[in-house]
Amino acid sequence: MAGIHFDVENQCVKIGSLSRRPIWVRPWEWNVTPDGYTALFLVRREVYLYLEAQEGDDSVWVGLRAGESAEDSDGLAVALDENGRVRGLARVPLCSCGDRECGDAGVQFGGEIPVQEIEDVFELVDELRDVGGAAVRGKTWFYDGQDCNLADIPR
Ligand SMILES: [Zn+2]
Repeated sequence: MAGIHFDVENQCVKIGSLSRRPIWVRPWEWNVTPDGYTALFLVRREVYLYLEAQEGDDSVWVGLRAGESAEDSDGLAVALDENGRVRGLARVPLCSCGDRECGDAGVQFGGEIPVQEIEDVFELVDELRDVGGAAVRGKTWFYDGQDCNLADIPR
């Protein structure tokens, strides 16, 4: 059974043979397609992974933020040191324009990944410690369009 499967009734997300319990799973609010879902998982304290996909999809959109609410929570970024190696997770502060997406764009950890990499993302994110201070634009690692590959994360 390839792909991702959403069970709203039982509040469960199945990824291959694995079953994960999110904080919530629900249909897309904007419901452009009938089979679109979004789910939010708690990875650890103040680290949340959200996920969007259509039922049965082989790839999903993932992102990291510091709280349950997309509007009220800072995005989280994978911060790099001066040598380009991973330091840990840093917060992306709200942009001065007040648009959360504006500050998060190109900084926040997120992007489209194959479903078989979801567990690797959970593992990686759980491993990363919080670094103090705000994420610095240009000194973070994020998925880049179609070319995302967890193996590319500089360690
Ligand atoms: Zn802005």
